[in-house]
Amino acid sequence: MKDNKRKEKNKDKTEDVTKATVTPPPNFIRDIIEKDRKEGKNEGRVHTRFPPEPNGYLHIGHAKSICLNFGLAEEYGGLCNLRFDDTNPSREDVEYVDSIMEDVRWLGFDWKDRLFYASDYFEQLYEYALQLIKKGKAYACDLSADEVREYRGTLTEPGKNSPYRERSIEENVDLFERMRKGEFPDGSRTLRAKIDMASPNLNMRDPVMYRILRASHHRTGDKWCIYATYDWAHGQSDSIEGITHSICTLEFEDHRPLYDWFIEQLGIFHSQQIEFARLNLSYTIMSKRKLLELVEEGHVGGWGDPRMPTISGLRRRGYTSESIRDFCERIGVAKRESTVDIVLLEHCLREDLNERAQRMMVVLRPLRLVIDNYPEDQEEELDAVNNPEDPSMGTRKIPFSRVLYIEKEDFREDPPKKWFRLAPGQEVRLKHAYYVTCTDVIKDERTGEVVELHCTYDPESRGGWTKDERRVRGTLHWVSSSHSFPVEVRLYDYLFTAENPGETEEGSDFKSSLNPNSLDILSACQAEPSLKEAEPGTRYQFLRQGYFCVDTADSVPDALVFNRTATLRDTWAKIEKALKMSEK
Ligand code: ATP
Ligand code: MG
Repeated sequence: MKDNKRKEKNKDKTEDVTKATVTPPPNFIRDIIEKDRKEGKNEGRVHTRFPPEPNGYLHIGHAKSICLNFGLAEEYGGLCNLRFDDTNPSREDVEYVDSIMEDVRWLGFDWKDRLFYASDYFEQLYEYALQLIKKGKAYACDLSADEVREYRGTLTEPGKNSPYRERSIEENVDLFERMRKGEFPDGSRTLRAKIDMASPNLNMRDPVMYRILRASHHRTGDKWCIYATYDWAHGQSDSIEGITHSICTLEFEDHRPLYDWFIEQLGIFHSQQIEFARLNLSYTIMSKRKLLELVEEGHVGGWGDPRMPTISGLRRRGYTSESIRDFCERIGVAKRESTVDIVLLEHCLREDLNERAQRMMVVLRPLRLVIDNYPEDQEEELDAVNNPEDPSMGTRKIPFSRVLYIEKEDFREDPPKKWFRLAPGQEVRLKHAYYVTCTDVIKDERTGEVVELHCTYDPESRGGWTKDERRVRGTLHWVSSSHSFPVEVRLYDYLFTAENPGETEEGSDFKSSLNPNSLDILSACQAEPSLKEAEPGTRYQFLRQGYFCVDTADSVPDALVFNRTATLRDTWAKIEKALKMSEK
């Protein structure tokens, strides 16, 4: 009875969480779109894009951008493109292209026939560049990369004009064409926009548009030896695709005047850039460069390691796409940088898994328990509900017999006060089964370690209840030793011990707070027989232990491996704080 009451109470709490977030979270981009539509801008069209650079796997920060771009398009009956911003061949790879497509699809979004690559526009961008040269708005510059930097000036000092700035249009056209033909060595020349070396905005100080680089591109091969910079490619790519709202993160705010300048000089369709604050999450990092470092140096088992904040890592860990989308909706969209507490993400996950995960019994650290008054050759099948949250998920049979396994930590020989689990002379309920009382403790003679418990059971308590409603405070999970089978379970903790691993003190790097205990492998767990057929990717709740998912990489039918997706603990106070932070 008590259990049910507590559950009711917890239910109230869960409902509170939902209520607190039912009011749509702030999203100023929605407001801009509505205003544009009201004013008939772009004939009311909404066309967005998600523009990843294929230089790493996507992370949860990208999920925010994906949900935002695809979500807004869906909301306003518009379109959303997937475009690879593949302008930097030295860091990019098809492996990344494939993983990005898989992740976007898995999140539940569809770009239909609108898959594009900035590299599709290389020829068009080259033509645009020629147009700027012919207008006297771009020039070939012979300064080295270091010199370009020197001439640029600083935030407080204006830059200096390049000595090559006043070349004739004819000379610039000729040099640019020969750059493309491969007549000059790597790094010997650039094409630069001719804007203003004294502009207070450093991005406007004659930025580089092309560099000479002999690198094979994953799509265009060796066709090009000059490559557009991101700044030159991005805005024009948006324009070519007719993107109405070009949504990006705040660090591009200072680039907007440059993008607008290019578009105006070329006289082409003007996409409106809107910046929002990127997602930061506590106890993790969101930079592809840093994540790559973890992979390359072997601190994790790859981009899809279940501890990684990547979409593939979260998926392998057992996260559902629904919970990630729910999280992205709840955190809202703002102009100000903030860090979202990771417990909010975990909370969204638990809410989802609580409803869909079948309950199972698995003993992580087994301790033998023998029921002396249970006949040796007897066994029986007990009924267990699969999910108390969802009766339609039905029931299953669990075998019971004289020798069981329980969790080592559920027994104490010298229990503290208020110990409701098993102890000498103490009675507990075995979930779905019987009441048992501990009568004897067997120890290893050498080590003193408890190796076996003896109990008696009350045959009148079948199903876990007695007629006299005798109270026991503890309910333990268990498995029958002759029916259970061994599985491996991997427990995870945060990858970093610091709340903000990205912001370490000067001189120390982000890896200094790597958590040495982020993975704990338990290889001698015992699972109830219904789990034998568990398919990779299936999620369960192991009673009292958390949510688990059959590993998709290392699990095989005769040697199942389970990842702990999340513990059952959900701290309300922390979540409230997280919600407040995300609303700021
Ligand atoms: P990183 O800093 O991890 O390397 P990035 O911005 O260089 O990320 P891109 O591939 O250029 O990675 O990102 C694709 C899109 O995702 C961009 O529009 C970018 O603004 C957005 N994005 C990247 N990180 C985040 C984040 N943490 N929160 C929200 N959006 C993000
Ligand atoms: Mg980027």
